[in-house]
Amino acid sequence: MRLDDFQADDRRLIMPTAGGDMHYHCLNCSRSSDIDRIFYTCPHCGGILLIESEEPARLTPQEWRRRFDLRKLVTLPQIRGIFRYHELIAPILPLDCIIYLGEGHTPMIEASSSLTQAVGINLAFKNDGQNPSASFKDRGMAGAMSYINYLLKYKNAGQILSICASTGDTSAAAALYAAYLAPQVVSAVLLPAGKVTPQQLAQPLGAGAVVFEIPGVFDDCMKVAEYLAEHYQVALLNSKNAWRIRGQESYAYEIAQDLDYDLNDQTLLVPIGNAGNISAIMAGFLRLRRLNIITSLPGIIGVQSEHADPVFRYYQQPEERRFAPVDVAPSVAQAAMIGNPVSMPRVISLAAQYQETGGQFAVVRVSEQEIMDSMLTANRHGHIACTQGGESLAGLRRALELKLIKNNRHVILDSTAHHLKFIGFQQMYFDGAFPPEFGIKPKKELSNTPREVSAPGPHPETGRPLYGNELKKFVGETARAIAANLGLEYR
Ligand SMILES: *Cc1c(COP(=O)(O)O)cnc(C)c1O
Ligand SMILES: [Zn+2]
Repeated sequence: MRLDDFQADDRRLIMPTAGGDMHYHCLNCSRSSDIDRIFYTCPHCGGILLIESEEPARLTPQEWRRRFDLRKLVTLPQIRGIFRYHELIAPILPLDCIIYLGEGHTPMIEASSSLTQAVGINLAFKNDGQNPSASFKDRGMAGAMSYINYLLKYKNAGQILSICASTGDTSAAAALYAAYLAPQVVSAVLLPAGKVTPQQLAQPLGAGAVVFEIPGVFDDCMKVAEYLAEHYQVALLNSKNAWRIRGQESYAYEIAQDLDYDLNDQTLLVPIGNAGNISAIMAGFLRLRRLNIITSLPGIIGVQSEHADPVFRYYQQPEERRFAPVDVAPSVAQAAMIGNPVSMPRVISLAAQYQETGGQFAVVRVSEQEIMDSMLTANRHGHIACTQGGESLAGLRRALELKLIKNNRHVILDSTAHHLKFIGFQQMYFDGAFPPEFGIKPKKELSNTPREVSAPGPHPETGRPLYGNELKKFVGETARAIAANLGLEYR
């Protein structure tokens, strides 16, 4: 519908107006910093930042919900994506700064009845692989790039070189959104050599980013990116950038809206790598709760692989917890293969707030074998889950074993990327080709290989098609071979 077709009161609710107050808040020294500059860490103490805001308008919970629900009906591109929740994500941004490449509003797919039965609880996958660059990273990138666009348009920022370190998906998203703002934004990405999938490497190359392959793992790349951000004029697009977190809060807003704002007895499972996503999801639900848009918080259970489990280890300690980074081992949940998560201070702060506000928070750990088996099991039941989505399902099974899910109404699994990005791991499983460090033994019932049919007689070859009787013979013989293979009865 066009805006003119709504009544005046509703029009006012629908149209975002830029305003309100936003500032960086340091989780270490609690000081605030001005939002008109890009800070990645606190200028006073170097601590990790979150962005706080005061929404321009005070609305009742009913008005907030009506605002978001009405916006579904409007054909205004700027509010079709994550900025349907403009006031919650970035109230200071004028509409003409908002970048929309189709991110957000990914489908929540209820599990098939056979998968529900196999797992023993009602569950759904939220397919964040159905974002433009095929992972949830686009949510945060739409937030950060809209802010950069604001600096370009309103603050004379000149040309901006964006930089990020990545386990693959951040660079795919950064390169795509930067290319949309070319030539004013130029993008460079740092990847751990040999530790991203061929699909993930192809993405930033295709979008024209400068791609650097660095020896080591993600944590090493991150250190280099941080050094560059500290010493040179670059815009860091890692989730250390608090704007990314704000954009990723949209995941929580969508779930709330899709469930008609009733989060009672819901539990979410979220894979943890650098811990930006789980921080954003908790921050999002807390924001909704503070505004009384929702009246209860869903349970949140983070999932880590045995091969990259620093957050799990932290929460295993009963009291006086101390964070210690871990050395990672090869993981099929490669996008979460991080030993020293940048957002750990955010998790610690937000999880504490979450629990104080009555929300459940826990972290579970799963094996590489469980991750692969779960990814394939999901696919076998009609779902597209990436390896990290498999990690969510494996985490659900662990959480059920541990009786962590008491309110057994419904569970939402985060499938964070499109499964085709990680399809090479499926091939390794089917071929039994995993190097021993993964500790993955393929199960026969989950493996699959194409069958060759070779019927007697002439075959078509490239540049030499068959005609007439030869073609007829080929079709008949091939069909008979397939029928025999499938055990079909002749009718
Ligand atoms: C980045 C990423 C993760 C990990 O998210 P964090 O915010 O780093 O914890 C999980 N899955 C996929 C597909 C990712 O790209
Ligand atoms: Zn500080």
